[in-house]
Amino acid sequence: MVDKRDVAIVGGGFAGLSAGVALAERGFRVALVERKPALGGRAYSFQDPDSGDFIDNGQHVLMGCYRETLDFLGRIGTRGGLFFHRNLEIEMLERGGRCGWLRTAAMPGPFHMSAALLRYRLLTARERWRVMAASAQMMRMRRRDPAALERSTVADLMDLLGQGARERECFWYPLATATLNDDPEVSSAALLAEVLKRAFFGRRSDSAFVYSRVGLSDLYCGAAADFIQKRGGVVARHSAVETLELDADNCVTRLRLRDGSALEAANFILAVGAPQLTRIIPAPLAADPYFARLSGLGVSPIVCVHVWLDRVVTDAAFIGFIGTATQWLFNKGKIFTQHGARHGGYLSFVISGARKLVDRTNDELLDLVMNDLRAMIPTASAARIVKALVIKEKQATMAPDLASHRIRPRTATPVKNLFVAGDWIQTGLPATIESAVISGRMAASAVAARVDIPEAA
Ligand SMILES: Cc1cc2nc3c(=O)[nH]c(=O)nc-3n(C[C@H](O)[C@H](O)[C@H](O)COP(=O)(O)OP(=O)(O)OC[C@H]3O[C@@H](n4cnc5c(N)ncnc54)[C@H](O)[C@@H]3O)c2cc1C
Repeated sequence: MVDKRDVAIVGGGFAGLSAGVALAERGFRVALVERKPALGGRAYSFQDPDSGDFIDNGQHVLMGCYRETLDFLGRIGTRGGLFFHRNLEIEMLERGGRCGWLRTAAMPGPFHMSAALLRYRLLTARERWRVMAASAQMMRMRRRDPAALERSTVADLMDLLGQGARERECFWYPLATATLNDDPEVSSAALLAEVLKRAFFGRRSDSAFVYSRVGLSDLYCGAAADFIQKRGGVVARHSAVETLELDADNCVTRLRLRDGSALEAANFILAVGAPQLTRIIPAPLAADPYFARLSGLGVSPIVCVHVWLDRVVTDAAFIGFIGTATQWLFNKGKIFTQHGARHGGYLSFVISGARKLVDRTNDELLDLVMNDLRAMIPTASAARIVKALVIKEKQATMAPDLASHRIRPRTATPVKNLFVAGDWIQTGLPATIESAVISGRMAASAVAARVDIPEAA
C-alpha cells in the first residue's frame, strides 16, 4: 500500500542524495535507486590499488559561497572532511616564470576582492582598474538588465566592457572557464555574473576555496545513504530505471527497473542527467514541450590527468596556469599528505571546457600536461613519471551556452507527482555541486508542498 509519504528518487549523485536527505529529515519514506554499483554520479572517487591514494574522477573545488552544499554536508555530518581556506589565495603562473597572486585582503566584501585585484601583478595598474570597473558594471547589468546578460556570451561582454587581451587572459577567462566549464566564446555572461556576485561580492569567506581532504565519495555518499536509511528509507545501487508508468490521470504510478521489477510511490524525483532523463520518459510524455526541448541542452567535457612523480615539485596546494592547455594543477600530495596521503608526488591536472582535446589519446594528453608543467615549473623537468591515469568526462556538465537559459527546466513537470533535479535544471547557477544540491532541495520542497508537510526548521 503506497503512503503519501512514499517518495522514489532516481539518481545517487549530489542532487538525488540532497533531495533524499531533505525528505528523510521531513519524515518521508525515501527509496533512492542508482544504476551504478556506487553512489556519487559525476563526483566520485576510488582507491588506486598501487599507491593507495584516493583518486577523484576530477578535482572538485567548492567555494565558501556554496551555502547549500555546506549545509547538506553539515546535516549528514561530514563537513569535517573539508579543508577551508580562510581567504582566496591563488598563485597564477605564466610561461617564462612570471607569477601573480590573487590574494584577498582582511577587509569586508567586496573590498577584499578589490584589494586582491589591485595587488595582482600579472596586470598593469591600468588593466587592474579596468577589471574592477568591469566587475562593477557587470553587477549593475545583473541588477538592471539581466536579459542583456542572458543574450551575451562572456566574450561579447568583455568587448562591451572594454576588456583587453591581458585582462581576459589573466583574469576573466580562467575564472569563466573554471566555473562555467566551457569556452568564453560560447558561455553565458549571465552565469559568469552570478558566479561573480556570489563568490566575490559577498562575504570574504565566500570567495575562498574549499576542497575535500578525503576522496570525494567518502565525503558524502555513504553518510547521505546512512542518513536516509536510518530514517526508514532504502538506497539501492545497481538498480537502473528503464521507464516510468502513468495512470489515466497522467500521474506516475511506478518506476519500471531494468531487472523487470517495479517501484511504487506517491511522488517521484528524477535526479539524473538531462540525456538520461530523456531516455526514461515514455514516448507520449516525451513529446510535451517541457521534455522535448531538453534535447537542445548541450554537454561540455573535462579532462583530468593524474600523475605520480618520483618527487615533490611544488609546495603550493594548487596553481593556476595561464597561456597553456592545462588550466589548473592540484598538488594532491600536499592536499592529502596533511591528511594521510601515501605519495607526495601525486598531481592532478585539470582542463575544463576540453572540447578540442577530449578526443586526444591518453599518451598525448599526458605529454601535453607534462610539457605544460615543465614550462611553468622548470625544476619539474628532472622528475620522473611513476604512474599516470587520464580520466575523460565527456559529459562533465551541461554546456553553459545562451540557449541553456531557455531550455533549463524548473523542478515541477507537467506531471503533477513528478519532479526533476540535477545541476542542469534552472537554478540560476552554472552546473556545479551547489546547483545540484539546490536542485535537490527544490525538488524536496516541491514534494513536501504537494503532500502538505511543513518544512523542517
Ligand atoms: C571532472 C569533473 C570536475 C568537476 N569539477 C567541479 C568543481 O570543481 N566544482 C563543482 O562545483 N562542480 C564540479 N563538477 C560538476 C559536479 O560534479 C556536478 O555538478 C554534480 O556532481 C552533478 O550532480 P547531479 O546529482 O546533478 O548529477 P550526477 O552526478 O550525474 O548524478 C546522476 C545520477 O543518476 C544516475 N542515473 C542516471 N540514469 C539512471 C537510471 N536510468 N536509473 C538509475 N540511476 C540513474 C547516474 O548514474 C548518476 O549517479 C565537476 C564535474 C566533473 C565531471
